[in-house]
Amino acid sequence: MTRVYQKAFFKNKIVPIAEATLNVASSAVLYGLSVCTVFPILIAGGSVAAFRLRDHFQRLVNSAQIIGIDSLEPTWTYEALQQAVRALAQENSVAEMAFVRVGVHADELVPGTRSRGLATTLSMFVYEATPIVPQNGARLKTSVWRRIPDYAIPSRAKVNGAYVNSVLARQDALDCGYDDCIFLDAGGHVCELSAGNIFIVRDGTLITPDAASDVLEGINRRTIFEFACDLSIPLVERRVDLTELYIADEVFTCGTSTFISAVKEIDGRTIGRSLVGPITQRIREKQERVFRGDEPSYLKYLTFLYKRAMDCGQHEEVEAIGLSATRR
Ligand code: PMP
Repeated sequence: MTRVYQKAFFKNKIVPIAEATLNVASSAVLYGLSVCTVFPILIAGGSVAAFRLRDHFQRLVNSAQIIGIDSLEPTWTYEALQQAVRALAQENSVAEMAFVRVGVHADELVPGTRSRGLATTLSMFVYEATPIVPQNGARLKTSVWRRIPDYAIPSRAKVNGAYVNSVLARQDALDCGYDDCIFLDAGGHVCELSAGNIFIVRDGTLITPDAASDVLEGINRRTIFEFACDLSIPLVERRVDLTELYIADEVFTCGTSTFISAVKEIDGRTIGRSLVGPITQRIREKQERVFRGDEPSYLKYLTFLYKRAMDCGQHEEVEAIGLSATRR
């Protein structure tokens, strides 16, 4: 069972997680009309820090914009979210790596199938950072379910309702004894996993499905583009065929909840020659250094929240922040 921390952020205040509940008559519950993001809290240089928080906020705003939820941006700023994240992490005394899930939920009661002009609630909760696939040798299965295309439910928007697609595909993979699925698009090209992006290595070049391949534009995917540049590894974003995966030298996944996981088997075929390929390993080590705060040029992606060894005084500071500051 995944450990969920005791305190949540809900309706502009911190509450016990059991009180962070949505009405059964809300659009969020009726239609899955919520947008979300999940980011890691890391321990970097003795401090507790959020990774790429600004980018997560921006993707949340973009998801709301695509779906037509129009009350997020007038209400929330990045600075306000940052304050709320700090308060939530402190209230939960987070002192090890953890995930934070932020949701923006349309919670007006029975408004019918529409999205504009609806009241929304922002929620956040913290849970243990356990990867959803094995790190050294994940086994994947091509899904019988295809990835929802941009013209149906846009993949680049992180919308709760759309995750039924991921649930179907991952459950199919689990039922067949695999760790996760590989989604193909309607044309049979590779998209991604149930909740992670995919990279392959062929002849020393990193290849990943391009942004128009019905993938979620993962924030870790973008980070890997920067790593590839730093490490002088050629990178190509393009359409990827399934059979390219079968003959790749290396295949790995990336994402907040998959981490950088080396894939050892796809559809019964062994991938590569070693459990963790050399390029996968270099990228993983780079990420570990970045997450520890050991790479100065990536410190810009760490939002420092507080020193790890907290004293009680900091809890008073949480009160002082006053979550009324969350509104513009
Ligand atoms: N694809 C899907 C469908 C996802 O749910 C996720 C997780 N948010 C990702 C890719 C990876 O995104 P990120 O790197 O931002 O965690």
